Amino acid sequence: MVEQVVVVGAGVYGAAVSAELARRGARVTVVDTGAPGGGTSGATFSWTNSCGKQPRAYHDISVASMEAHRKLARDVPGGDWYHEGGNLEWGGGDGERERLRRKVATVLGYGYEARWLTRAQVLRLEPDMNPAGLPADEIAYFPAEGWIEPTRLIAHLLSTADVERIWHDAVTGIGVSDGLVTSVRLASGRRLPADAVVNCAGPAADRIAALAGLELPMRNTRGALVHTSPVAVSLSRVIHAPHVHLRPDGAGRLLLHTHDIDGAVRVSDTGETSVEQAAVDKLMEAGRALYPGLSAGGVESVRVGERPIPGDGLPVLGRAPALPNFHFAVSHSGATLSVHAGALVAAEVLGEDRAGELAAFRFERF
Ligand SMILES: Cc1cc2nc3c(=O)[nH]c(=O)nc-3n(C[C@H](O)[C@H](O)[C@H](O)COP(=O)(O)OP(=O)(O)OC[C@H]3O[C@@H](n4cnc5c(N)ncnc54)[C@H](O)[C@@H]3O)c2cc1C
Repeated sequence: MVEQVVVVGAGVYGAAVSAELARRGARVTVVDTGAPGGGTSGATFSWTNSCGKQPRAYHDISVASMEAHRKLARDVPGGDWYHEGGNLEWGGGDGERERLRRKVATVLGYGYEARWLTRAQVLRLEPDMNPAGLPADEIAYFPAEGWIEPTRLIAHLLSTADVERIWHDAVTGIGVSDGLVTSVRLASGRRLPADAVVNCAGPAADRIAALAGLELPMRNTRGALVHTSPVAVSLSRVIHAPHVHLRPDGAGRLLLHTHDIDGAVRVSDTGETSVEQAAVDKLMEAGRALYPGLSAGGVESVRVGERPIPGDGLPVLGRAPALPNFHFAVSHSGATLSVHAGALVAAEVLGEDRAGELAAFRFERF
């Protein structure tokens, strides 16, 4: 019987898995090499969506995950880390417009909410937007999408769960005996007995798997995020314009991102990350072109996050057949998936059959 579970990592996944395990009565120890939320979950665009997720199983688990966020935020007094303002998206050229048409047609076919808006309709939603930055029509609107504040979500999940927390100590070894995990060793020398281990180590999930003798292929990428100073600009939702993605970021700040800036991330020999200033300036320029009021503000911080991307791009969720009490909760899109997918993984750890929901995301496909 599973009584004592060790969860490795305290990002959105580790917090969600720990909270659900504790709610179901398990004794949980969650370990993080740093502070909770200090990994990718602290440097993410955190857009909640199921827009363009393929195959269908990935789309479906994303939709279920958006519903789980909605329900959690509704059920918790003050659950205001969740912002369901919708997402606006348009293409910059014929190719992008055609891709967007196909995406909208596909998700509509799945029964997902999406509609086309004109420039005039968008300006009623986003009155501070520069009309010249918008096409006359074919602006896709996905009203059920939004964004979360991951660090506040993590704080809520951990603060309401009866779990032992170990911060600033790394998992350095996993004891295995007779085909089962028996313990976890920490850098401090501590040894934690374990009836089960859940790997929620985000971009380091392959290293934790290796400690248990399992090979998890990962193709992580780094992304840069530009946080502005507070500005009196009305931005109420997630925007995907051709050269800039934006969302509100609390207290009047905006968060800017685009895949173009990711190529400007530099990593030094000692592992320090930086972003080329010219790329930051270009992104701010694109932001100001779309929201002229942003000219009154500057860059407050630039962060770099590492996307935890399993080898084939799909989530890895649930138990490892070769080591049945070692479990995975690892994916890109973790801001969207973690609350729901984490609960499925926790249920399976404690013996519940979640084979249907997890079938497409098993480790053994590698
Ligand atoms: C630029 C960018 C944009 C993104 N945009 C979106 C988006 O719009 N929507 C979306 O849904 N997702 C997005 N993501 C992805 C999403 O943020 C991640 O999938 C999610 O945050 C991963 O959470 P996690 O808990 O798995 O990992 P993390 O938050 O990284 O947590 C893992 C934790 O494990 C700890 N750890 C590592 N090794 C050890 C060890 N040996 N011992 C103990 N602890 C250890 C780390 O310290 C860390 O705290 C984005 C990511 C990036 C970088």
